[in-house]
Amino acid sequence: MANDVVVDVVVVGGGLAGLSAANRAAELGLSAVVLEQGAAPDYPCNSRFSGGIVHVAQKDMRADPADIQAAIDALTDGDNSTALSPIMADEAARALEWMREQGGKFIKGGVLEFMRWVLAPPRPRRPGLEWKGRGPDVFLRNLTAKLESHGGKLERGVRATGLIIEGGRVSGVTVERGGPPEQSEAEQFKSEAVVIADGGFQGDADMVRQYISPNPDALFTRGAGNGNGDGLRMAMVAGAGVVGMNRFYGHLLGRETFNNEKLWPYPTVDAIAQVSVVVDGAGARVFDEGQGGVYMANNIAALDNPLSMTVVFDDSVWTGLAADNRYPPCMNPSFVNEGGTVFAADSLAELAGQIGVDAAGLAKTVVDFNAAVEAGSLEALSPPRATDKFQPNAIRTAPFHAIQLCVGMTYTMGGVMIDRNSQVLHDDGAPVAGLYAAGSATGGIEGGPSAAYIGGLSKAVITGLRAAEHISNLKG
Ligand SMILES: Cc1cc2nc3c(=O)[nH]c(=O)nc-3n(C[C@H](O)[C@H](O)[C@H](O)COP(=O)(O)OP(=O)(O)OC[C@H]3O[C@@H](n4cnc5c(N)ncnc54)[C@H](O)[C@@H]3O)c2cc1C
Repeated sequence: MANDVVVDVVVVGGGLAGLSAANRAAELGLSAVVLEQGAAPDYPCNSRFSGGIVHVAQKDMRADPADIQAAIDALTDGDNSTALSPIMADEAARALEWMREQGGKFIKGGVLEFMRWVLAPPRPRRPGLEWKGRGPDVFLRNLTAKLESHGGKLERGVRATGLIIEGGRVSGVTVERGGPPEQSEAEQFKSEAVVIADGGFQGDADMVRQYISPNPDALFTRGAGNGNGDGLRMAMVAGAGVVGMNRFYGHLLGRETFNNEKLWPYPTVDAIAQVSVVVDGAGARVFDEGQGGVYMANNIAALDNPLSMTVVFDDSVWTGLAADNRYPPCMNPSFVNEGGTVFAADSLAELAGQIGVDAAGLAKTVVDFNAAVEAGSLEALSPPRATDKFQPNAIRTAPFHAIQLCVGMTYTMGGVMIDRNSQVLHDDGAPVAGLYAAGSATGGIEGGPSAAYIGGLSKAVITGLRAAEHISNLKG
């Protein structure tokens, strides 16, 4: 090998999870290096692109852990397959304080509880991706500077390609530096422990096809898209188990987003779809809209044609909920102002013609839906419609509206199996010696039957801190 480096901890990925793990390790006196495939100082990653809202299960980070746990249980229907959720509840407040100690500045982003802690300066309340100089970007730069001040290092333009396994334990990674394999120089980073924090597998079409959607090209990449599943593949070679692979965090977007960069990552169509009906070309509902936007995005992605669904709603939703600016930018008017199409017609038959949906099928769906709303019998619909999270809105007030949907995939919620200390586990529950994982590379905290989203930033910090602390404890 051309160049071997030896440190206590090697971290794969320079997002929030990786930088949290490396900083904490360095704080605890360990030598740490972060390997980041992006070469630019402001390399793209989901952490940098994020809205910077730090919450667990939409609760204030300082809420009573029992309340946070109850919120997690409600979102996941109690299905926490690896019993990891208590670390999210118990560590939320500590993670927030640690971020503040690292120079993280926060503001209150709005009246909703989950917006209590927003990294400052916040992103502007308008459509499109604006991240430069915003809270998450600033915080990542702070963490990089802090890491260096503790003697750690962020190596940019270095892609981890494999794990070094010696005597049954992981003892480093092999990497490629500077471009495609044929031009890059092979190196090794040897270490006591490796932390995989490469952000998930949303950027790998083959893995997305295997686990999430028969048609990955029909999913819009609502993020940096550079979690390529490298960490997952490496961990699996080392014998790691995986969990929850079929679920991702994402939102419903207007279909024109593929050709209009102002229509992502915000505004999303979720708030409208959660109270209305989402139909296929036959005008039929195919899943429970009442489970929320992330659930719908997952179900649409799993269809043979993820570009076949349309949300139909009435004018009271468009002028009411869709214009509610508690969580801006709201759809009305920003979606239309930026070039998105909201179809409108005085009759459902005319609307069906505009959106290419079977008119008789749509009419029956709306009649059944309205009758069920009136009778309070939405559980009897086929498919049933839940009412505990979002109240359905009967489609009565003309003009009637429709938006053709696409799925925006942000990050995969399944991944490597870990324990409470972020140690990677074999299928039988035994740790893979020397191997840890953090952030969106891990599974078992989010997802499940309801596709529950718990909060990507808090997960990144909490799992990153715990990995570093366990490595430090073992070193003694
Ligand atoms: C538009 C948007 C809005 C969001 N808003 C919020 C929000 O408000 N609140 C919230 O909680 N969450 C939010 N999220 C989700 C959140 O950003 C992520 O869950 C979190 O940042 C994940 O952190 P991470 O470190 O695990 O991954 P990432 O930030 O994706 O970092 C992974 C890094 O690993 C690098 N990498 C990948 N493979 C390799 C390799 N082989 N070798 C070296 N490096 C590699 C990548 O280049 C990347 O830099 C949002 C995401 C997006 C895109």
